[in-house]
Amino acid sequence: MLILFAFCILFSSCTQMVSAPQTEYVFGTVCTLNFFDDGTESLYEECFLELRGIDDKFSVNKEYSEISLVNKNAGLKKVSVSREVFEVLELSKMIAEKTDMAFNPVLGSLIKLWAIGTERQRVPEIEEIESARQHCNPDSLVLQNDDGIFYAELTDSKTQIDLGAIVKGYAADRIVKILEKRNVKKAVIDLGGNIYVFGQKDRQNNKWKVGIKNPLNQDSEPVKIVSLDYGSVVTSGNYERFFVENGIRYHHIIDGKTGSPAESNLASVSVIYKESVFCDALATAFFVAGVDADFERKLGLQDVQLVFVKKDGSVVER
Ligand code: FAD
Ligand code: MG
Repeated sequence: MLILFAFCILFSSCTQMVSAPQTEYVFGTVCTLNFFDDGTESLYEECFLELRGIDDKFSVNKEYSEISLVNKNAGLKKVSVSREVFEVLELSKMIAEKTDMAFNPVLGSLIKLWAIGTERQRVPEIEEIESARQHCNPDSLVLQNDDGIFYAELTDSKTQIDLGAIVKGYAADRIVKILEKRNVKKAVIDLGGNIYVFGQKDRQNNKWKVGIKNPLNQDSEPVKIVSLDYGSVVTSGNYERFFVENGIRYHHIIDGKTGSPAESNLASVSVIYKESVFCDALATAFFVAGVDADFERKLGLQDVQLVFVKKDGSVVER
């Protein structure tokens, strides 16, 4: 009996039980991880711990996040930040420059003014928009690497960082790194609709299939089924967070040039690429700038696939 008992402990400790896909509420949205046969309790816990840690550092909805502390000290002093926050801020400034600020990491004052997706959402007065718009220049975000001690400073007291358009993509890439380290064979990561398909789908090496929602009617068939070996599919659209007033739809993707929700004649943009951080930021940037922007070329990214759905429902791909 003793041997049997020992054997059971031995057996259970080296081949942990595989658990069903797991879901948690992080980043203000529903996040689901599916590691299939490699999905042990401890691996799911390790990955959700990572996601919660990223949320704690980057969320503008958390008073003591690193980003909130930089925002709180705007116009006052530089703030010491972690390497990961520094690197995301540095990448965000670079993407803002290459996308002519269609993606802009310091739109916080406009985002807070419109408050879209919260109970305070409203159409601000023109004067309020004009005033907030003056404080959305990424040049006022100064980053300093002092021999491995990282600082971020907002030199304009009214400029505010908001990384809602890039951090979920960054977080998906961080989970991919853990899966690579843990030799996971295949996985699907879904962070509030930001998808990452990882590893070989099946023995026949079929491609993963990811459906892109119809932004005009999310209950209907997908407008496109994307086939890919691995990588990320991220969509930004005017149907995710919005309100309608006097027949006008005000959504959550702001054009820094007008200070108002972007009017690019698009209902959604999906970006397919191997790094989810670029998918996330570019989906927002293309939604603001429109179909003709060539941001993937300006960023020197190869093999980026784009799916634009216009407001009339027509689909443009490249
Ligand atoms: P995307 O297009 O990817 O991003 C749009 C979001 O980015 C907007 O909501 C705004 O925040 C910002 N933005 C708007 N226009 C631009 C632009 N031109 N350039 C750059 N950024 C822009 N939501 C909650 O309701 N509660 C929470 O507690 C909460 N916590 C979060 C914590 C983190 C770390 C992150 C990353 C997000 C969190 N969110 C939360 C969600 C966040 O508020 C955004 O609404 C969400 O990330 C939008 O993602 P999206 O894919 O819908 O749109
Ligand atoms: Mg985005």
